[in-house]
Amino acid sequence: MIGKVGFIGLGTMGRHMAANLMKAGFQVVAYDTVPEAVQNVVTNGATHAKSVEEVGKLSDVVILMLPNTPDVQSVIYGAGGLQEHPPAQRLIIDMSTISPVAVRQISADLAGKQIAFIDAPVSGGPVGALNACLTIMAGGDSAAFEQARPVLLAMGTTVTHVGPSSAGQTLKLCNQLICGINIQAICEALALARASGIDLKLLREVLMAGSAGSWMLEKLGPSMIDGDTQAGFRIDLMLKDLRLVQELAFELAVPLPATSLVTTQYLDARVHNEGANGNQALFTVYDRMSNQASP
Ligand code: NAD
Repeated sequence: MIGKVGFIGLGTMGRHMAANLMKAGFQVVAYDTVPEAVQNVVTNGATHAKSVEEVGKLSDVVILMLPNTPDVQSVIYGAGGLQEHPPAQRLIIDMSTISPVAVRQISADLAGKQIAFIDAPVSGGPVGALNACLTIMAGGDSAAFEQARPVLLAMGTTVTHVGPSSAGQTLKLCNQLICGINIQAICEALALARASGIDLKLLREVLMAGSAGSWMLEKLGPSMIDGDTQAGFRIDLMLKDLRLVQELAFELAVPLPATSLVTTQYLDARVHNEGANGNQALFTVYDRMSNQASP
């Protein structure tokens, strides 16, 4: 039985996921390098650990929800890291989106220390995290996945074991390239419709009812049309994911021309200091290209 869940990385996603673990009856031991990030969950009853080591010592299993591959490597391999201080049930669940190549290495290294490592990245954004309805795609050993399942079910509605170590990350990267290219397609349609004098809100409503309807058009379309650049999923994180997609594509020699093009456009946003905007703000790149401004 898992009682205490360590949670490292209480950012945009992690704080909601940890809150849902508590709602489901798990005790949470929270740690973030930014102490204010844990404030909410601590107010609601979580234990505030002061280090990664303390998380390992106080928990049955540990969940990671960190920005990037080096962050995950640092909490595992760094001084006072989880490889030296594993949780009681010797299971680490990484829900961040990171490199599949790195995941295989981490998993093999930890297996040598009798610690199981599951890659379980998520889709559904901050709203999915808030409402405990994330899609969770898990890679790793079947027995470890079964051990993790009750914890994962507290945060997501679709929880699937998709294959061996790193298979979860590979699926997540496929998810991300579809999201990026879908956002790009919506930007192009909005740019064309705007130049034609079409009411963009009406366009979205009509297209949602037909074959061009999508999650992105439904959830992000309104902020694209309103010029709301506020971040849910940052452009910098999208670029991190597109880079991971390209690295895997290089390794496997799979050409991904559409991914390459949309990566260039997100890089254009970063060059213009827009990396902290939400990924729907790719439309700003189209504002520039078409010399038009969002409202
Ligand atoms: P975030 O930057 O908002 O949160 C990450 C948190 O980790 C921050 O609070 C940061 O202080 C903390 N952190 C960084 N390094 C740390 C360390 N070494 N030790 C402890 N804490 C550390 O990121 P996010 O948006 O919550 O995303 C987290 C992961 O989930 C990323 O890999 C992202 O790609 C993925 N993801 C995000 C979304 C989204 O919509 N935001 C959706 C799906 C997946």
